[in-house]
Amino acid sequence: MHPSDYIQLEKEYGAHNYSPLDVVIERGDGVWVFDVEGKKYLDCLSSYSAVNQGHVHPVILKAMIDQASKVTLVSRAFRNDQLPLWYQDMSRLTGFNMALPMNTGAEAVETALKIARKWAYVCKNIPRYQAEIIIASGNFHGRTISIVSFSTEDLYKKDFGPFTPGFKVCQYGNYQELESLVTKNTAAVLIEPIQGEGGVIVPPEGYLKQISRLCKKENILLLLDEIQTGLGRTGKMFAFEYDDVRPDILILGKALSGGFYPVSAIAADKSILGLFSPGEHGSTFGGSPLAARVSRAAISVLFDENMVDNSAKMGHYFMACLKEINSKHIKEVRGKGLMIGVELYPEAGGARKFCEALMSKGILCKETHQNVIRLTPPLIIQKSTIDWALDRIREVLSI
Ligand code: PLP
Repeated sequence: MHPSDYIQLEKEYGAHNYSPLDVVIERGDGVWVFDVEGKKYLDCLSSYSAVNQGHVHPVILKAMIDQASKVTLVSRAFRNDQLPLWYQDMSRLTGFNMALPMNTGAEAVETALKIARKWAYVCKNIPRYQAEIIIASGNFHGRTISIVSFSTEDLYKKDFGPFTPGFKVCQYGNYQELESLVTKNTAAVLIEPIQGEGGVIVPPEGYLKQISRLCKKENILLLLDEIQTGLGRTGKMFAFEYDDVRPDILILGKALSGGFYPVSAIAADKSILGLFSPGEHGSTFGGSPLAARVSRAAISVLFDENMVDNSAKMGHYFMACLKEINSKHIKEVRGKGLMIGVELYPEAGGARKFCEALMSKGILCKETHQNVIRLTPPLIIQKSTIDWALDRIREVLSI
């Protein structure tokens, strides 16, 4: 089949809830993907940071095949021999003594919101159904009705009300405003350490630290959504390490499976996660033996192959070189580790056309928020590949 045949089929029979670049990928290998005609591209999106470990990582692949040939799903009605080992690995990874497995990022966020509300009623004695959760403008936490209820992006929500109440919005990065929203009914603050979908927005230095102090002082739970920033993306295992804080609930997804299978989770201590009783929450696929085994392998290769360290080093190099590019289109280069945003001036005419030009030169990336090119390659990228990419990025941005 010709690429245009695939595109036509997708347009004809698929809901149009995305506007993908017209590249039809057939296989992936490390930092590279190949289209149906065999053309090779550097993947600078990493499936929105779900493929931090690189495409089809052999260790994760082996774990997946081994487990899939034994047993894949038994449901949580029965126990399985992989989930306890995953819990142990998660505890070692996060430093929390409990975790709860789900599938998608949005489900993990919903799980965090549910347990934060229960904690508010059971532990903080907030009157029933009065709990308030503070969130930030420009947030992206997923697509469920409750999550889009507190989105500030018109497109994500405008036709999907009525909305879930109980959320208060403050401007991202503005600590004073957040502080002013706290009441005796505030149960939690839910925030991204760096906003990914919001346009790779890095908040002011010390912002998380201030929020963490406030939460401790006022007995408020800090819920950090590290679905995109976590697992090495920013050059530390978790972005919160930059601010020397610890959330009360850590929300993970995406690279928790290296892109093989949807695995998400929240991690917290028993005083919080221990509040769930049987029947209050669940998922048919969450915590399946296949998910647990794949996730364990995905976590192990992050350590065994020093991917977090590589993300810090390569991210530093990539960002420094991008900052040196002399282009009339570039307004700002920002980010941490291998989570990099190149913001263009509005006069440049939008980031999309630059992403298309990069695609024709063999680099796949995606615009976010109109004017930002997000560059988030797999964490295994090497300096020579970055140099190869930089030659092309320079060419495209000097037009
Ligand atoms: N939270 C953040 C910070 C994200 O970046 C995303 C996805 O991009 C989500 C939540 C939602 O994850 P999912 O698409 O797996 O539901």
